[in-house]
Amino acid sequence: VASAEPGTDDVQSVREAVGAGADGFLRELVDWLQIPSISGDPAHRDDVRRSADHLADALRRTGFPTVEVWPTGDGAGLPAVFAEWLSDDPGAPTVVVYGHHDVQPAALADGWHSPPFTPTVRGTRLYARGAADDKGQVLSHLLGVRAHLAAQGASAPAVHLKVLVEGEEEVGSVHLGALLRERRPRADVVVVSDTSMWSAEVPSVCTGMRGLTECQVDLFGPEVDVHSGSFGGGVPNPLTALCRLLGRLHDGHGRVTVDGFYDDVVELTPAERAAFARLPFDEAAWLRHARSAALAGEAGYTTLERVWARPTAEVNGLWGGYTGPGGKTIIPASAHAKLSFRLVPNQDPGRIQERVTHWLLTRLPDGIRGEVRFTGPGVRPCRTPLDHPAQQALLRAMGRAFGTDIALTREGAAAGQHLEQHAAERPDVGAPVDDFPFRLLGRHVRGGTQNHAAQRHRR
Ligand SMILES: [Zn+2]
Repeated sequence: VASAEPGTDDVQSVREAVGAGADGFLRELVDWLQIPSISGDPAHRDDVRRSADHLADALRRTGFPTVEVWPTGDGAGLPAVFAEWLSDDPGAPTVVVYGHHDVQPAALADGWHSPPFTPTVRGTRLYARGAADDKGQVLSHLLGVRAHLAAQGASAPAVHLKVLVEGEEEVGSVHLGALLRERRPRADVVVVSDTSMWSAEVPSVCTGMRGLTECQVDLFGPEVDVHSGSFGGGVPNPLTALCRLLGRLHDGHGRVTVDGFYDDVVELTPAERAAFARLPFDEAAWLRHARSAALAGEAGYTTLERVWARPTAEVNGLWGGYTGPGGKTIIPASAHAKLSFRLVPNQDPGRIQERVTHWLLTRLPDGIRGEVRFTGPGVRPCRTPLDHPAQQALLRAMGRAFGTDIALTREGAAAGQHLEQHAAERPDVGAPVDDFPFRLLGRHVRGGTQNHAAQRHRR
């Protein structure tokens, strides 16, 4: 958000303003990090409210003329914070910065070297729960706005700026969709400030995230478990049928065989592939981190391409029949599996759900009945095209700030689904057509954790 146009802010002035504001920024962050705003624990509801008020105060001190704490779920949910600062230029674009002020639980016993809610500086890093997810990111935008105004000698930002910081991200953003439908904060660009930077040394922008949809498959054979001595070889076995079916989910090249699965997939552009290939990716270290003995996946793609930009089908669980000690010679009455599908732009979770269901249920042998149940509507994938003007503006601004080329990444996990679904739901809610037309994913904080480590909490 440093500038809407290249060359608008003088980098030296921005640096001086950031330097002058650094101590205050750190004090503000340390105070905020001491509030254990754990959204998943009902005992901390008041802390999440306190955290919202703390942020609202910081936004007011920054100069935002409009700052509101928005209750959610008719007061049953945890509050979001909204702030708005209009540009003097009525024709300027509107930018929404999204983040969250709630955190995951944390305890010393989890392996922390200092109490998670007692912010501690070690070396050049500040350690506390929420420091890198997501309070540090959110607060850095406030420092950025102050520096931008100082560099401009202006009293209002160059773009219409809105900040939306929810308090329920770590519990699945349960009320964010309803909140967006109710409040409809119009935007030209959404900056999701809740993804990871490649490393402190390699500044990067996350340009996309995969989506997700999950289901349970139940196959039914005989009405009860029957004796394999009396009936084995004469009737179908649902566990065998399920294993055969799941074994056919991928072909020999690691591609998912569900009809039409790849129809809507946006292939990586040569520029994106080149950008990923430039990253200093240590595949051996990644593999160690995966605790796996070998790489596997879709032929023709690198590991980063596979986990960031290719869709997957995974068997997450499989059960049925007799699993106790010793043997039990039965043909089981039923067999069960949990499956999940990572989706990439522009796969639609609903269409994938239909295709997977059809693929599974039209391949059952005679005498086997099946049910496929998906959990919810799924999470849509998202991607910001590299040539989008806002993406280009962000890369220019970060490039000038860091004095180097900015790397491009994606994330394999899913998040921010409600912002995306808000866009998808436009026709239903009758919001203006320019609500959330696309998203821009970026992160501006130095010293974050490596991306795979930071994804523990994601779905
Ligand atoms: Zn987060």
